This record gives sequence, structure tokens and C-alpha cells, in this order.
Amino acid sequence: MSSTTDDILRESYAEVSARRVWARFIGYYGPYKGLFFADLACACVLAAIDLAFPQFLNFFTKEFFLETPERILGGLGLILLLFLGLYAVRTACQFFITCWGHIMGAYMEADMRRDLFAQFQRLSFSYYDRHNTGAMMAKVTSDLFDISELAHHGPENLFICTLKIIGSFALLFMINVPLTAIMLVATIVMAALSFALNYRRRTVFRENRERMAGINATVQDSLGGIRVVKSFGGEAAEREKFRNANEAFLDTKKRSYRFLGAFHAMNSLFMGVLYTVTVVGGGYFVAQGTLAVTDLAIYALYIGIFISPVEQLINFTETLQKGYAGFRRFMEVLDEHPDVANRPGAASLAEADPAERGHVEYRDVQFAYDADPVLRGLSLDIPAGATVALVGPSGGGKTTTCSLLPRFYDVNGGAVLIDGVDVRDVTLESLRGAIGIVQQDVYLFAGTVRDNIAYGRPGATDAEIVEAARCANALSFIEALPQGFDTRVGERGARLSGGQKQRIAIARVFLRDPRILILDEATSALDNESERAIQASLDELSRGRTTLIIAHRLSTIRSAQLIAVVEGGRVVEQGTHDELLTANGTYARYYRMQFGE
Ligand code: ADP
Ligand code: MG
Repeated sequence: MSSTTDDILRESYAEVSARRVWARFIGYYGPYKGLFFADLACACVLAAIDLAFPQFLNFFTKEFFLETPERILGGLGLILLLFLGLYAVRTACQFFITCWGHIMGAYMEADMRRDLFAQFQRLSFSYYDRHNTGAMMAKVTSDLFDISELAHHGPENLFICTLKIIGSFALLFMINVPLTAIMLVATIVMAALSFALNYRRRTVFRENRERMAGINATVQDSLGGIRVVKSFGGEAAEREKFRNANEAFLDTKKRSYRFLGAFHAMNSLFMGVLYTVTVVGGGYFVAQGTLAVTDLAIYALYIGIFISPVEQLINFTETLQKGYAGFRRFMEVLDEHPDVANRPGAASLAEADPAERGHVEYRDVQFAYDADPVLRGLSLDIPAGATVALVGPSGGGKTTTCSLLPRFYDVNGGAVLIDGVDVRDVTLESLRGAIGIVQQDVYLFAGTVRDNIAYGRPGATDAEIVEAARCANALSFIEALPQGFDTRVGERGARLSGGQKQRIAIARVFLRDPRILILDEATSALDNESERAIQASLDELSRGRTTLIIAHRLSTIRSAQLIAVVEGGRVVEQGTHDELLTANGTYARYYRMQFGE
């Protein structure tokens, strides 16, 4: 688990140029241009109002407040109207930025999530072999959140903060140049210190997140294997493992809070320094006669206006960095090319002559998942409609052989042909539509029994679904369920027995009506009785279809027209049961070992 997280983190440092990342990121604003510019406009108005406030105060002080009481009272009406108006506008802008700015971020996040999910559907098996999907999904979900934060706060923060800081300094310079110069230097020094501190805090924070992932992994592993834990009395050891993860997390958490404390203290110091400079420096210039007392007050107000944007910008570097890193990881997943895809100009698998439908040929097939070759020149010819039993030692390559037919993986050498056509030359949709697979593990989707059977052919009528269930010997038990076909199955079909789930899976394939069938240890996980019941429906299913069957039951193997012994990535022997026994080779040896004399 944790190694997977590391892999994902490490992968994020692949070469992607920053320019490409930003271009792609900005592309996601495309559909929301209106919102984006409205958001920026509101940000400008908001910053302008905040900057104007001390100016108005300055103006009114000179115009009214330093005059007679009558003049002051006479001006209050105007001041009231103006301020109410300004703050009404400011409030509206604030609402728009917070509400619609966030909604824009959420839209963009939804678009990215849509693209990501589509990409997950597109990626090939080999990708899933290399990545832990659970960890990936969680990682990318948190990435997407970081990205949407950046999407929203990016333009707004950068705009408001920059405008306020630049605006304040410009106005301060207009009031008094030497004092503002000192102020500028103090600001730069303090901001740099603050930034450095925040940077350290972020490093600790990242460590923090990794250790949290460690805790999650420990919990998941331990709860996932709770049956093993309990049956081996491993509770104390599990607690100990968890204690370590928990303490490691607490440790970095404490460190991160030390930095957080220091960061906030630094900001307080920052403010203190600026106000001290204002008062002492200001006093000095007042004494010199170069600064009016009213201007000094205005000066103090502007300090309040630019101090928080400076802090916000420092904090924003974190949002920026997290959002950027998240988007880059997102992009890498999106840029991953599926290993198996339609060739340009691929046509549908042709409807061959009915008598010839489903002729399967493996021609000198070479295949490796990674470095080690698994299939080394495997050849096998299966006539249309025939049943071939693949037998051989575990790990010999039987499942792999079957996986190449629907192109779960592509061969590295040689070819796999259906009805004389290379499987790589036809569309994946038509190819997979022609092949039905029943495996040992059945996956049932959350939904009703009907939905699960209908997955075999979306749009099938109720009558067809019932007929498929009947063929699969599933009708009687489905009808006995509380809501019949409308009974919901748990997320993994928890409320059905293995044999029942298997029969639903078989009904699914009946409904699909493929010309080729792959039965990979379909009955291995079942007890003898369910196995016999299901064998009957499998026999029914394979009638008239080319069938590749991997099984351990002698009767199943024996009744196949062709038995192929797969060992070391080759077909080392093939023929009928009797022929192979007579030949007295590998199969005969295997047979004697498995089933006695
Ligand atoms: P069989 O079905 O005959 O037991 P498999 O085809 O499942 O054999 O496996 C053949 C070899 O390929 C084994 O050495 C196995 O470890 C390896 N293998 C199977 N699936 C994968 C995979 N997804 N990734 C890497 N290696 C695999
Ligand atoms: Mg296998």
C-alpha cells in the first residue's frame, strides 16, 4: 500500500514542462470565461473600494470634520449615502466572489473528474496491473480538490492581493516618500522571513500527509485481513503496528504545529514592526514638518489594508504549489496512452459463415507482462464451435493465453486470429462483443439482479433476461428471492452464495450470446454440488460456441474435443483424451498424478 503511494509520488516528477501544465490548466477555464471575468471584475471593484476608503476618510476629515459642528452635521448625510452605497457594492462583490468563484472551481473540478473517469475507463489492463486503483483514486481525488482551490483562489487572490499591495504603496508614496521607502524595505524583509518559515512548514506538512496515508494503509490492511488477524491471534501485533504509524503521525503533526505557531507569531511580529515604524517614523516626520498629522492617521489605515494581502499571498504559494503538483499528476494520468486501443481504420469483426463462426488460431504467440516471457511461441488451432480444454501446471500460462483473445493484452510476437482475422485489426467493441467470459471471481455491480444480467446486453427485453436466467439454471433461485429479479445485490453481491453469483454471471453471458466462450476455472471456487449444477448450465452455454475451458474436473476435460497441455508458455501436447493417454506423455503423467490410475 504505502509503496504504491510512494510510486505515485515518485511518478509525479516525470518530465512535464511547466508551460504545458499551465496551458492545459487554463484550458479548463474555457467554458467558464464569463464567470471568470466577472470574478476578476468583482475582485477589482472590491480592491478599489478598500483602497478608496482611507482616501474618502481623508477627504471628509479635511472637508468636514476639521470644520464647524454645523458643517460636520451637514456632511453626515452625504457620507452616510456614499458609504452605504460603496459597502452595498462591496458586499455584492464579496458574495459573488465567494459563491460564484467557488462554483466555478467546482465546475472545473467536475470537468476534470469527468475526464479522469473517462480515462480510467479507457486505460488497459496493464495499467491496472501497475497501479493500485484504490490508492490512485484517493490520491487523485485529493489532487482534484487542491486543483479546484487553485482554480478559484488563484485569479481572485492574485488579483485582489496584488492590487491592494501595489495600490496601498502607490498611495503611501504619494503621502510621504522616505517613510514609505523604509516601510517597503521592512515589508520585503518580513515577507521573505515569513515565506521561508512557511516553506519549512509545508515540507513538514507534506510529511504529515504521507504519514496519514500510512495510517490509512495500516487500517485498511488490518481490517481487510481481519479474518486472518483473528484466526492467527494477531490482534496485539496489529495494535503494535498501528501504534507505530500513529506515533509517527503524531510526531510530524506536533512539528507542523510548531511551525504553524512560528508562522502566526511571525505575522504578528510583522504587523508590530510596521506599526512601530509608522508611529515612530511618522512622529519623526511630523516633527520635521514634512507629514501632516491627518496623513499619519491615513498612513496607519493603509498598513491595515496591505498587511493581510501580504499574508494571503504567502499562504497562497501553498495553494499554488499544491494545486500545481496535483494538476501535473492529473495530467500524467490523462496523458497515459492505453496499450490496447483500436487501430486506425479497424473494422468490425466480420460476420463469418455461420458454420465457420468462431475459428480461433494462436500463431507462434510470444507474450510477457514485464521482462519475463510468459508465452514463448504458443500455437493452437481451435476449429469453429469446438471445445478445447487447456490443462497444465499452475502458472503455465493458461489464463494468459485466454486473456490475449479479447485483447486484454496484446501479443509481443506472433498473432491471435478469429475467423482468419488478426484480433488487432478489428475494433475492440466488436471483438469483445464476440467473446463471453466466465471466471472464478464473479463481480456483481451494486444494483438489482436484473441490472446485473442485463449488463450482458444493455437494452435486452425482460423476456430475454428471464430466458437467459432460465438457461443459466438461475431462474428458480432468482424467483425465490424476496423481490425476484428486482432484488438488490450488495456491493459485491454479499447476500448471494458463490454458486448463485456464478449463475447470474452465466446468465449475463447467455444474454450476450457470444460466438466464443472462455471459461477460466469457472467452477473452482464452488462446492461439489453447486459445481455439478453449474456445469450443466456451462455445458448448455458452450453448445455451438467455440469454447476455451480451463478446468480441473476430469469429466469436463475428458469431454473436450481437444485437450491442449500448456506448459512453460507453449502448447507441449495436444489431442483427445484417449490419444494423449496413448501417447503417454505429459498429459498422461498429469492425468495419473491428478486422478490416479
Ligand atoms: P495459469 O493460468 O496457467 O495458472 P497464468 O497465465 O495466470 O497461468 O500465469 C502465467 C505467468 O504469468 C505466471 O508466472 C504469472 O505469475 C504471470 N502473470 C499472470 N498474470 C500477470 C500479471 N497481470 N502481471 C504480471 N505477471 C502475471
Ligand atoms: Mg489461471
